[in-house]
Amino acid sequence: MKSKSIFVVANWKMNPETPREAKALAGQVKRMSGGLTKVKTIICPPNIYLPLLVPPRPSKKLFWGVQDGEVENKGSYTGGVSLAMGRNSGASYCIVGHAERRAKGETDKIIREKIQTALRLGLKPIVCIGEDKRDNHGEYLEVLRRQIGNCLGDLKKNYYADIMIAYEPVWAIGGGAGLADNPENFLHNALFIRKIFASMAGNETALSLPVLYGGSVNPKNAQDFIKEGRADGLLVGRESLVPEHFKQILQIADKTK
Ligand code: PEP
Repeated sequence: MKSKSIFVVANWKMNPETPREAKALAGQVKRMSGGLTKVKTIICPPNIYLPLLVPPRPSKKLFWGVQDGEVENKGSYTGGVSLAMGRNSGASYCIVGHAERRAKGETDKIIREKIQTALRLGLKPIVCIGEDKRDNHGEYLEVLRRQIGNCLGDLKKNYYADIMIAYEPVWAIGGGAGLADNPENFLHNALFIRKIFASMAGNETALSLPVLYGGSVNPKNAQDFIKEGRADGLLVGRESLVPEHFKQILQIADKTK
């Protein structure tokens, strides 16, 4: 069964610069998300801010995620922050396999370990996949097939229901040409992703897999990705740092779903 909710994930990346700004931004998002009925908002701040931002009482509308984390729970890993620490600081989701981590050398094997650790800890992974380049012959679909197979193949059957996939074509992320994919392509690619996922998780679980779109989402294109692209959610980078724009994206998601 498809979810009645729609997910909007704010990936703050390495922003903002101070805890004070982070608190102010989180406060604004909290107020925005409170009035929505269908949107589940997930804020992924820099890990260091989590304990400052997560309120003591959990909400049914606003959730928290880590952007990345080590698979070891603790130990001699200077500079490391574990997924377990994220979970223990109030996160219930984690972004895994983001293109910016892959660009720093993160392999499918490492991503798979992070996904397994997250699932063991009870964190829901938001697994990012996407091709570097788009071609006109569908060769890029093989990249998606490989990423899904390598990262998600042969997991414990009951884990699959906790996974979310964010399709983020790398060429559409974070500036550069600033061009998003188009909703028609997204719909096509999301169906492909669901089909590959079904071969591992079974049809029933694959039908309820949330497939999100990410890559230069803004208030102008959000509606089309949800309506025409039938996205189950959006992963938003830069525009999640601009309160007025993020508010519009949340409202659009709420009324379009
Ligand atoms: C991202 O980094 O996951 C992302 C989607 O960024 P942006 O929205 O800035 O393209």
